[in-house]
Amino acid sequence: MNKISIGVDLGGTNLRIAAVDEQGALIEKVTLGTKVRLGRDHVIDDMCDAVQRLGEKYRNSAPLLGIGIGVPGIIDMQTGVVRESPNLPDWVNYPARAAIEERLKTVVILENDANVAALGEKWLGAAKDYSDVAILTLGTGVGGGLVMGGAIWRGANGMAGEFGHTTVEPDGHPCGCGNRGCLEQYASATAVVRMAREAIANDAASALARTANSDPEFSAKSIYNLAIQGDEDARRIFRSVGRCLGIVLSSLVNSLNLPIYVIGGGVSSAWEAFAPSIFEELRRRSIVYAATAPPDSSAHKEGASAHVVAGPGHKTIVTRALLGSDAGLYGAARLPMVAEARR
Ligand SMILES: [Zn+2]
Repeated sequence: MNKISIGVDLGGTNLRIAAVDEQGALIEKVTLGTKVRLGRDHVIDDMCDAVQRLGEKYRNSAPLLGIGIGVPGIIDMQTGVVRESPNLPDWVNYPARAAIEERLKTVVILENDANVAALGEKWLGAAKDYSDVAILTLGTGVGGGLVMGGAIWRGANGMAGEFGHTTVEPDGHPCGCGNRGCLEQYASATAVVRMAREAIANDAASALARTANSDPEFSAKSIYNLAIQGDEDARRIFRSVGRCLGIVLSSLVNSLNLPIYVIGGGVSSAWEAFAPSIFEELRRRSIVYAATAPPDSSAHKEGASAHVVAGPGHKTIVTRALLGSDAGLYGAARLPMVAEARR
């Protein structure tokens, strides 16, 4: 009999719960709003009700392997305490795992949401054929996750993979983390809108300014739409996104020499607008990329690639995510399966 597990993607806006079988087939998905304003107990009750309903519905047809939950924040993996969570302010220093286990009367696995998305893309998405992958998730912020040898690489404190808070501009825009010039300040949806507003401040007659005035939800998507229509100001913003991503990816490629790097999250739908700048930076800045680039991206002989000719053997793949917003949900469902395999 095919076993199932239940995955939860707890976002600041959406709370999604799914039953998924061991082959990765989606059995059922429930989407609820995350009622952050009603407090954590309300959110946990909503989540546990939905998990219980799914568990009971399939109890007689498929044994339940376990429950995995992706949480946006830093989690102490030993104690199950959420240490930091910008999107769930009243969860900070809260023993979330204990509270959820008490309601469900069973063990659950909590994991950082970006790590969970990496596990999802590794299981069923862009990195399916690889056991090592790094993922960058471009959403409200920039999340990062690392999978090594098929398992999430957490580091000593569960904090590994914070690629969004690596520096791309030493004296750049201040970041919520305390640093200045973090990647998150140049490659998130929030950053795209901020850069557009900066451009508008310099040119109030631009197409960007007209769009901002007429579109009450002036978002990264609106700016992308302008970019694909050929608006130079909008295109410049996405080139800057790609450049900053390329700088961070160059360091990752040089440091880790992984076979694949995946770009996901909402902003990754603008791939065509920023990807050329990523590859330009990678060729210019990473000697390891130059030596391992797939043939189509090693054509330009400049920077690092001028010194090294791509040889045979493994290629370094940089690509967009395939699972979209479901990566976190599948990854969360995968958590109990990975844990079971290790037992
Ligand atoms: Zn930061």
